[in-house]
Amino acid sequence: MKLIFLGPPGAGKGTIADLAMQELGIPHISTGDLFRAAVKNGTALGLKVKDIMASGGLVPDDLTIALVAERLAEGDAKKGWILDGFPRTIPQAEALEKMTAADKVVNFEVADDIVVGRLSGRRMCKTCGKIYHEKNMPPKVAGICDVDGSPLYTRDDDKEGAIKVRLDTYRKQTAPLIDWYGKKGKLLTIDGVGAPAAVLQRFQAALKK
Ligand code: ADP
Repeated sequence: MKLIFLGPPGAGKGTIADLAMQELGIPHISTGDLFRAAVKNGTALGLKVKDIMASGGLVPDDLTIALVAERLAEGDAKKGWILDGFPRTIPQAEALEKMTAADKVVNFEVADDIVVGRLSGRRMCKTCGKIYHEKNMPPKVAGICDVDGSPLYTRDDDKEGAIKVRLDTYRKQTAPLIDWYGKKGKLLTIDGVGAPAAVLQRFQAALKK
């Protein structure tokens, strides 16, 4: 099964993808995670994208498409995938169609005020990338990852100025994909508000239909 998760930043795509991938037995491929790993490792790609990401803007399409092409060529992606954070522009969607077409596109709907609350309270593990929220999904010990005991941090792009840029970018560049995939008959729309377990159930129900 090849799935694309669409929705604004903070819609819960990464959280639901992590839960769903275990069940579906397919990898969760997050371009945000791949770019963050490149930044952390100080690769040539990482150096190019670091400032763009911190500001909340989009990495150029050519770099992003090349990264995804490479990742989809790996062995574990043969049986399917959940793409989270890609495509984010029409040219990216067109490039993906040329590589391989997704079966379904899941659009997570969440209102702006909820998105801002989720992003500003989001904390991430420095080592494994697991996502927490200081109020909604706190770790057992404040500031420490439940999985590996590493410190949690606030992403640069989860700071106030960058959140606004990301929402604007989403509306202008990514939201047009909702119609684009709708016209192809691939769109499933899901209410993304509520606890992860509730959203996961809606996702599973929509997939069965
Ligand atoms: P979000 O929480 O906004 O969904 P992600 O973790 O998916 O964040 O992405 C973080 C950042 O990585 C984006 O703001 C952008 O700079 C870059 N990025 C991720 N995916 C893409 C993409 N498909 N095209 C361009 N830039 C991307």
